[in-house]
Amino acid sequence: MQLPSLRLKRHEERRLLGGHLWIYSNEVDSRETPLQQYQAGEQVRVETHNGKLLGTAYVNPHSLICARLVSRDDRILDRALLVHRLLQALKLRTQLFDEPFYRLVYGESDLLPGLVVDRFGPHLSVQLNSAGMEAMRGQVLDALKQVIAPESIVLRNDSSIRTLEGLLREVEVAWGEAPKVVELLENGVPLLAPLHDGQKTGWYYDQRPNRAWLRRFAPGKRVLDVFSYVGAFAVQAAAFGAREVVAIDASRPALEMAEKNAELNGVGDRFNGIEGDAFAILRGLKAEGESFDLIVVDPPAFIKRKKDHKEGLQAYHRINELAMQLLQPDGILLAASCSMHLAREELLDVLRSAGRRQDRHVQILMEGMQGPDHPVHPAIPETRYLKAFLARVSDG
Ligand code: SAH
Repeated sequence: MQLPSLRLKRHEERRLLGGHLWIYSNEVDSRETPLQQYQAGEQVRVETHNGKLLGTAYVNPHSLICARLVSRDDRILDRALLVHRLLQALKLRTQLFDEPFYRLVYGESDLLPGLVVDRFGPHLSVQLNSAGMEAMRGQVLDALKQVIAPESIVLRNDSSIRTLEGLLREVEVAWGEAPKVVELLENGVPLLAPLHDGQKTGWYYDQRPNRAWLRRFAPGKRVLDVFSYVGAFAVQAAAFGAREVVAIDASRPALEMAEKNAELNGVGDRFNGIEGDAFAILRGLKAEGESFDLIVVDPPAFIKRKKDHKEGLQAYHRINELAMQLLQPDGILLAASCSMHLAREELLDVLRSAGRRQDRHVQILMEGMQGPDHPVHPAIPETRYLKAFLARVSDG
């Protein structure tokens, strides 16, 4: 079956040939192949201006990224190709991890644009983040059942990206009996995550290698976890032997689950949650003369869009400086950013300038990124978003 063609303007094939998977609407020859003629999610044969095949893509005529490649030949994304891609994704994860707790599919990096799947043993949390993947919903579910044989699949289709794609935001159990809470194992520590009403897919697997740093630095320490969510950093710190951990988050349900996570690990007596705005709480802790040996600052993306850059960067400066003020001499600061629009050098500069303003000496000990179950696509900078620095802060 011949697919309809999508023709690019002259020279606009360069990014695709360089490895990228996306086509922007201004790159399409809209006289030859007007975008309005396609259904959202429809698959097309992508061609250069003179008809040479570049690959197969699915289209969303309503989105700025109007098409994303699913293959570099004439293979369409069907159940067979989905199964192949899922098996490839699974092969990588089983090579990386001993236990079935990981991001199984990371969109473009696994050549499945717009699809995210997090695995909690037999339970899957899935995001269909594009019209193309939405159109494949039934086949995605079938392919997942074939490859993983899961007990349940929850569709966490409530991300704001769906709005940009013209899709509804909803959460739905698509298969089996999905428990409210799932158990996972990370860095050897058992933890609980909310499957239906947590943030994103329910768990941030991306920080796993950076949380492992705590094994060396947390024992015996008083630890503060700022923006803790369900306590992934805080509870691992306690499980690794921290003397006391304090977790701050604006979400009460997140802190309640953090408390349960602490109890699950038998460290409930060393755990304290504080609910509220992190900026205000850090100021309050400082006013009360509190201090900590190790502080984790892992905020939500303060820079969601390019135009938020200035304001967002200031927020990174403010929160890290507040944290540094609460740090004991020779304390450890783990500063992270999941904003794709914040450069690594900018986060480094946040630490440099906080140190200067307080006349403290900062040493960067480790630098991290998202874990390998979130592989980077070398042609797509958006796939490399997480930055983390571990710094020692002394009095100089
Ligand atoms: N560190 C967590 C992930 C953090 S996600 C982990 O490792 O899993 C960001 C968290 O910040 C969310 O839980 C959100 O509820 C919280 N948050 C957002 N704005 C906040 C604010 N102003 N003060 C406190 N918490 C906030």
